[in-house]
Amino acid sequence: MVKSLIDAVVKIFIDAGHGGTDPGAVGNGLQEKNVNLQIATRIRDMLVNEYNGVSVLMSRTGDQTLSLTQRTNAANAWGADFLLSVHINAGGGTGYEDFIYPGVGAPTTTYQNLIHEEIMKLVNFRDRGKKTANFHMLRESRMPALLTENGFIDNSEDAAKLKTSSFIENIARGHVNGIVRCFGLTRKTSAIYHTVVSGDTVYSLSQRYGSTIQQIRSWNNLDSNYTIVVGQVLLVAGGPSSSTSSSNMGKPAPKGDMKTTSIVDYLNSIKQDSSYANRARLAKQHGINNYSGTAAQNTQLLNKLRK
Ligand SMILES: [Zn+2]
Repeated sequence: MVKSLIDAVVKIFIDAGHGGTDPGAVGNGLQEKNVNLQIATRIRDMLVNEYNGVSVLMSRTGDQTLSLTQRTNAANAWGADFLLSVHINAGGGTGYEDFIYPGVGAPTTTYQNLIHEEIMKLVNFRDRGKKTANFHMLRESRMPALLTENGFIDNSEDAAKLKTSSFIENIARGHVNGIVRCFGLTRKTSAIYHTVVSGDTVYSLSQRYGSTIQQIRSWNNLDSNYTIVVGQVLLVAGGPSSSTSSSNMGKPAPKGDMKTTSIVDYLNSIKQDSSYANRARLAKQHGINNYSGTAAQNTQLLNKLRK
């Protein structure tokens, strides 16, 4: 039955197009590689932080130079269920379009329909349509694959939008909403146990960040008459996304299982995602470079997380 558990996790490979010595398209003070990485990273974070049963592998998480073959090889070796390649267009047009390999049928066509629809709902771009193309990323990947072209970097109006973080957020959210529909992903419960550790600091038991009582009140629409006392455990909805949580780092978190030598068991004990993708993310956050899941790296990560 282990097999069915593994199958229950949807593996999404996200390729941020270009990178390193290849900037991709450039225009209006933007380099495509950087915008692609911003969008791809937000898609990953939203999926991993907010949804159950999804694992994400990125082709790159920084400004690395990668060949197209390296990218599709990584997705194929990992056995991804879906490959998404994120790009920005250039060449004198405007708006959004996406591509699948010519002649492929369902489920790829269904994925294109759903993701296209969800992106167009949220993103104020001209709809250039659902297209096909004989691109390497679509041809050499062994799983359904979609390549999105999110506006034209050499169009001043599109570029102005791409410089706005709320617009990037909407592009990412559109991709995520589409992927959620494609794979029937369910949302993680937003309920988080918090414990009050001082007069004005609340600590999440399931996520390692400190919050103020004021934040807890606003996330939960609690009015000031709702008294929160030290030692009280609160089951509350909401909280900051992981991208803002580090700025809320305050007092040390409750530590979880201090005996186990397994990083997976430890992450489970603090109710964190123990997937490879999340461990790789945590490793990067804690300065462990080139994480590949070796025993030594896992021990190093365990020690860092327990500090
Ligand atoms: Zn590109």
